[in-house]
Amino acid sequence: MDLQLRGKVALITAASKGLGKATARQFAREGAKVAICARSESIDTTAAEIASETGTEVLSLRADVTSQADIERVINTTVERFGGLDILVTNAGGPPAGTFDDIDLATWETSINLTLLSAVRLVKFALPHLRQSTTPAILTITSTSTKQPVENLVLSNSIRLAVIGLTKTLSQELGSDKIRVNSILPGWTYTERVEELINARIAKSGETKEAEIARVSATVPLGRIGTPEEFANVAVFLSSPAASFVNGVMLEVDGGAIQGTF
Ligand code: NAP
Repeated sequence: MDLQLRGKVALITAASKGLGKATARQFAREGAKVAICARSESIDTTAAEIASETGTEVLSLRADVTSQADIERVINTTVERFGGLDILVTNAGGPPAGTFDDIDLATWETSINLTLLSAVRLVKFALPHLRQSTTPAILTITSTSTKQPVENLVLSNSIRLAVIGLTKTLSQELGSDKIRVNSILPGWTYTERVEELINARIAKSGETKEAEIARVSATVPLGRIGTPEEFANVAVFLSSPAASFVNGVMLEVDGGAIQGTF
């Protein structure tokens, strides 16, 4: 199937590693022009790696998605370099782990800024450009925690639901502009963040890493943790013109871990 992404411009935020990086690489493999950002210098290495693997232009930007000025610069630079914007993938680092008792009020505020307001700002600044595209799409990256709370992740369990509300509302409001808006709810996917979560768990439980991975895998009907590439394949399809009648969908990519029917 041709995803019709050749020459399209895709911006993926928080993409120096993990789900964002895998998604950026897959867009590049499909011939899209890709812009990526993250806070650390490693974003330049990631961009160079993807560009040399795929032969596609990759724009690398140092930016913090909690900063309005950085987000405005990322959107403007992308449009200046590539002449427009067709696809926006909103991603950010995960909020800190912890139970309700662990998390102070200041951390609630910074986490709302990181997880919800980053997406709000990205959409605000991207919209004028997406409205010029013939195949515009927005994809938010959230979590299966929006369907089923994850132990020790009260911030993710709570704040990401607002991103789901935002995504669904935008899918209704922007339909008249032909802008499709969807979300992917990843389940356990083996990235550095998951490695850190597993290490934090074994530090508490005294289990071995293998035992903890086996415990997590047993919660997934497919019996394993997913790979970033498996996530990226779905993200790129959903954002592509090949998914032209898919709008307002909150799609779990979790090996069947969420047990609810809807
Ligand atoms: P990851 O491996 O930790 O990667 C996070 C990426 O975000 C890095 O490139 C990091 O680069 C960047 N980043 C973090 N904070 C940023 C900021 N303020 N501004 C710009 N870039 C920032 O995480 P991941 O596993 O790919 O997860 C991506 C998102 O999906 C997270 O929100 C995570 O909670 C969520 N999620 C992941 C899973 C999973 O199983 N992996 C499941 C459900 C939900 P810098 O540090 O250089 O900025």
